Amino acid sequence: MKQSKVFIPTMKEVPAGAEALSHRLLLKAGLIKQSTSGIYSYLPLAARVLNNIEEIIREEMESIDAVEILMPALQQSELWEESGRWDAYGPELMRLKDRHGREFALGPTHEELVTSIVRDELKSYKQLPLTLFQIQSKFRDEKRPRFGLLRGREFIMKDAYSFHADEDSLDATYEDMYGAYDRIFKRVGINARPVLADSGAIGGSHTHEFMALSEIGEDTIVYGEESDYAANIEKAEVVYHPNEKHDEIKPLTKIETPHIQTAKELADFLEKPLDEITKSMIFKVEGEFIMVLVRGHHEINDIKLKAYFKTDNIEFATEDEIVNLLGAKPGSLGPIFDKEVKIYADNFIKDLNNIVVGANEDGYHFLNANVGRDFVVTEYGDFRFILEGEPLSDGSGVAHFAEGIEVGQVFKLGTKYSESMNATFLNNQGKAQPLLMGCYGIGVSRTLSAIVEQNNDENGIIWPKSVTPFDLHLITINPKKDDQRELGDQLYAQLKENYDVLYDDRKERAGVKFNDADLIGLPIRVMVGKNAAEGIVEVKRRDTGESDDVHIDNLINHVNQLFTSI
Ligand code: ATP
Ligand code: MG
Repeated sequence: MKQSKVFIPTMKEVPAGAEALSHRLLLKAGLIKQSTSGIYSYLPLAARVLNNIEEIIREEMESIDAVEILMPALQQSELWEESGRWDAYGPELMRLKDRHGREFALGPTHEELVTSIVRDELKSYKQLPLTLFQIQSKFRDEKRPRFGLLRGREFIMKDAYSFHADEDSLDATYEDMYGAYDRIFKRVGINARPVLADSGAIGGSHTHEFMALSEIGEDTIVYGEESDYAANIEKAEVVYHPNEKHDEIKPLTKIETPHIQTAKELADFLEKPLDEITKSMIFKVEGEFIMVLVRGHHEINDIKLKAYFKTDNIEFATEDEIVNLLGAKPGSLGPIFDKEVKIYADNFIKDLNNIVVGANEDGYHFLNANVGRDFVVTEYGDFRFILEGEPLSDGSGVAHFAEGIEVGQVFKLGTKYSESMNATFLNNQGKAQPLLMGCYGIGVSRTLSAIVEQNNDENGIIWPKSVTPFDLHLITINPKKDDQRELGDQLYAQLKENYDVLYDDRKERAGVKFNDADLIGLPIRVMVGKNAAEGIVEVKRRDTGESDDVHIDNLINHVNQLFTSI
């Protein structure tokens, strides 16, 4: 296409607030335009890249017998009430009413809808397994939309759902999807790593996230260098080996700790190491208050709490609730009280005695609190995040951390939706059974951004050729000169027979054109300039910057070779 006809509003300066590199580059190179917070238009270049990503996804889905459908984005509340998610999904669900006052949601995901289709139409084990997928806009009223396309409120997702008669069949499709995801991310030019993830409160099931490694990633990946262990930090198990260095038990002593709010402040105030302090926090688990204790240098992992208590309904108690319950504000809480509040302690609390705890009185703590004598722990468990350098649960070595962007997730759902929504099939003995299900998502627009996050340099984007909006950037440096313009037109006609060519025919200064070309980042650039009269053009690779003067008689050959080698 002629660049003069394509709408590519490149920018010199990107708005402040665009923190992620991919966000800045996508704005700067004229690929996206923000409409409002977390909502974007995809301009021509982005639309082309999205099409390319989607084509790769379609090919890989087809290769594992997943079939494309398209479901409505607008979903009646009744479906969500059946699954229990009308309430459970919370404020992220975009809700609206029709003119008759009936409630609807804009789909953030489609388990309910796909289950409702299949339960009506699929009756027999003979129709199984079945995998359906779609590529569609999803809606989530994210608390913090940010980083451009990485966390939007409207975004494009490929979502697939599989239906099975037995576990073996579900396992097989899960493996197929896992393999397809691996291929998809490689093909689109992303360095992604599958990591074990938390399967949520309704548990027991199995799930992996695919993480594109990137500093901007909102997820922390825990991995080993001596094995292929990789897990989301939310999931990574902490191994506990007792290391009890117990001193002689000392008497409980109350001390004044004025204005102390945090474990760090307390440790400094007492001149004790942070790991000898404890943190006490109050949570509400399905409405019931509990206290969780961890050591000062550890952080409570609420995802592990959810898995432990097998519920999503866990939240921090509010300050008012805490004051009502224990008579003190969060800075002075501790496990010594005479209330019906169960205490759960992280395993590593066992290694301490004579510990420092809040006195449940503002501005006071106890020294030398001891389990058994002063308070009772209902249960110990793994309630915290692993630290870098701690042993991995596969025994292979120690934890290393990396940041990642979750570009996809594969998930064994089991019968969660088929049971609540009554989706059964007749097995080979004619008996009705709930369908087993899997679900598999790829953030298509997030993937677009992740590709840019991983493929760029200081001058702009470097598109992998698999998804590039155009293959070649043909530039006439000065189209006002007849020889350049004529040769440019001639080469455009030739090259576009085999390639997608963006032809910069604009009457702009050479500097502007080169800057835009670097920013837009097509794999190969062909420049028609001052040697046009001799039939010589310059051919340059975007990734390495290497360039050659090539005679036009040899141009097609040269470009073919170069393009294959990239
Ligand atoms: P996250 O933890 O990042 O919020 P999620 O686990 O809630 O994501 P899923 O329900 O697994 O997301 O959705 C499938 C895929 O959709 C994710 O792997 C991700 O790539 C993409 N995705 C999810 N939320 C967003 C969003 N707000 N903006 C862009 N892509 C998203
Ligand atoms: Mg996910």
